[in-house]
Amino acid sequence: MTDHAPALIDRFGRQVTYVRLSVTDRCDLRCVYCMAEEMTFLPRAQVLTLEEIARLGRCFTELGVTKLRVTGGEPLVRRDVMTLFAALGPLPGLKDLTLTTNATQLPRFARQLKAAGVTRVNISLDSLRPERFRAITRKGDLAQVLAGIDAARAAGFERIKLNSVILQHRNHDEVTDLVDFALERGLDITFIEEMPLGRIGAHDRAEAFYPSERIRADLGQRFELIPTTEHTGGPARYWRLAGAATRIGFISPHSHNFCSSCNRVRVTAEGRLLLCLGQEHSVDLRRVLRANPLDDAAVKRALIKAMAIKPEGHDFDLAAKPVIFRHMNTTGG
Ligand code: SAM
Ligand code: SF4
Repeated sequence: MTDHAPALIDRFGRQVTYVRLSVTDRCDLRCVYCMAEEMTFLPRAQVLTLEEIARLGRCFTELGVTKLRVTGGEPLVRRDVMTLFAALGPLPGLKDLTLTTNATQLPRFARQLKAAGVTRVNISLDSLRPERFRAITRKGDLAQVLAGIDAARAAGFERIKLNSVILQHRNHDEVTDLVDFALERGLDITFIEEMPLGRIGAHDRAEAFYPSERIRADLGQRFELIPTTEHTGGPARYWRLAGAATRIGFISPHSHNFCSSCNRVRVTAEGRLLLCLGQEHSVDLRRVLRANPLDDAAVKRALIKAMAIKPEGHDFDLAAKPVIFRHMNTTGG
């Protein structure tokens, strides 16, 4: 991009180069930290079509965005979602096309995703014990997810990263096992502190909170963690283990504020542009897309204008009421 090309720069001088696109709010699992057991999902007419999402991807990349992450809900349960990857993969200027998935559908789709240009895949895995895995996901089959991880490895993505949300008394005692699992397979792993998004009903979030420092202390009993300055364009901070390719990341929205270097925005399945994960500031892109079906310039103007309302940061408070009412499945992880 030349110096004069329009770019997405906010009031604090941060350039948005990374967009997370949620393609559905639906999912085949019901993870306790993400969803309530009974969820009402969006009616189809309110969800962006795959063509509209691809169009947004094109507009974003023409404004200097280099990384797109497809997420959800579970993106791979959306019908015909491969056509979206096929449309996004060849976009000029796009350096990284990535996916966040629970892996249940990867045995079916891993090869096609690689062929469409997906470079990296993040896979959620919170437990290696079948019964616990089922309890945390409310209906998941660990064997199916492990088969998905194998399929991703066989497909040959540049990098595969596991995401583990760690909750006290649910899986905090598995952090060493999860690192061993990642090490044995040459995968990266990021531990995520639970964020207070949406009412979930399953547990008290303040009670379940397990901070990154405690995870590092637990891992320190077995491994020598070496701090690094590496980053992958996301909010995680990384450590390495001597002699291993595996990176161990920590996303700590409570303990470490990562807002000052924030380079990303999110688009919900219904086309709401969210300027910050922890705030409600948003722009209705669906309206702009549908009012200007042939005019990408109008869409790009709306994206540039939206930069003026990107907030400086968030301040999650586990005890605060009301919390952010969006669930993570509508936000896109
Ligand atoms: N279904 C896919 C998956 O599970 O990977 C993609 C969407 S999911 C919403 C994206 C990520 O958000 C997952 O890694 C999940 O563990 C994480 N997540 C969901 N709810 C969360 C919460 N309340 N706090 C922190 N992470 C959360
Ligand atoms: Fe589904 Fe992902 Fe949310 Fe779990 S974290 S319920 S897999 S969207």
